[in-house]
Amino acid sequence: MRPAINIEGLAKTYAASGKSEPKHALKAIDLEVPVGSMFALLGPNGAGKSTLINILGGLVNKSAGKVDVWGFDMDVNPRNCRAKLGIVPQELALDPFFSPREAVEIQAGLYGVPKSKRRTMEILEAVGLDDKADAYARSLSGGMRRRLLVAKALVHNPPILILDEPTAGVDINLRQTLWAYVRKLNEAGTTIILTTHYLEEAQELCDRVAIINHGEIVANETKDKLLGRFTKRQMKVTLDDGWNGDLPRHDKIIFELLSPVMLQASFDANQLRPADVISCMTDAGLPIRDLEVGGADLEDVFISLTT
Ligand code: ADP
Ligand code: MG
Repeated sequence: MRPAINIEGLAKTYAASGKSEPKHALKAIDLEVPVGSMFALLGPNGAGKSTLINILGGLVNKSAGKVDVWGFDMDVNPRNCRAKLGIVPQELALDPFFSPREAVEIQAGLYGVPKSKRRTMEILEAVGLDDKADAYARSLSGGMRRRLLVAKALVHNPPILILDEPTAGVDINLRQTLWAYVRKLNEAGTTIILTTHYLEEAQELCDRVAIINHGEIVANETKDKLLGRFTKRQMKVTLDDGWNGDLPRHDKIIFELLSPVMLQASFDANQLRPADVISCMTDAGLPIRDLEVGGADLEDVFISLTT
């Protein structure tokens, strides 16, 4: 099946201005987003996430590469691409003089949705803004604004919804509502892409995670695979001098001698706890003098991939 979005060799260099050097915000990246996925584009601030999203949204011109959306080449069929995408921008930019109802109606007009096909109240209800339909946009909280932007992105019923840093300025409760709704859309078949610099967010919501750093994709896997890489643990154990016994045996722990008194126990945190590993060694009579558990929690691996 063809992907929802296919990106090949996509590059963006922002021109030098004043004293600043040209900025290579995207360096020939390849990325494939499968239809129906809940895809996280994870990366630290400045990684290039918004640049990528804004290229998809037609707000930033790419410097090189090819972008296909729903099978349409962006250079050949920009309007078809636009019709397939709903984009919720990172900035909470809303016209303060329009109510949510008006804002959604205007957006529908911009996308050429005929009056008879508009679902303004249905969409506002879905994002929990029906009781605010006629309020001034400026009276809306950050979370409500974010949800209004989601509503606007949905007016033309796009099969792909892209959310750029959707939790910025959204409090915990509204975040949950927003996620519940995004999940529902995904379950109903919408391909979701979200950018975030929060690991937990990507972890909780998404089934695929690509990690971008300094304009390059440094990881791109299913979440389970990525998490699988994060659960390996190494315990380094210092033994009393003069120990010369046998290494313990355990089918889920790999023991290696790093030196005559330094033992490494490798295990999978999904299968065992450090305490299990320690029991195994004490049961085998190892004279443990000191130990440390090294490697991998999610944050560590993220940092190792992005620095
Ligand atoms: P992210 O969304 O991951 O935080 P951005 O795509 O916004 O990252 O930015 C990527 C890099 O490109 C950053 O170094 C940023 O400063 C730079 N950048 C973004 N927009 C512009 C612009 N309009 N002109 C020059 N540099 C820009
Ligand atoms: Mg950004």
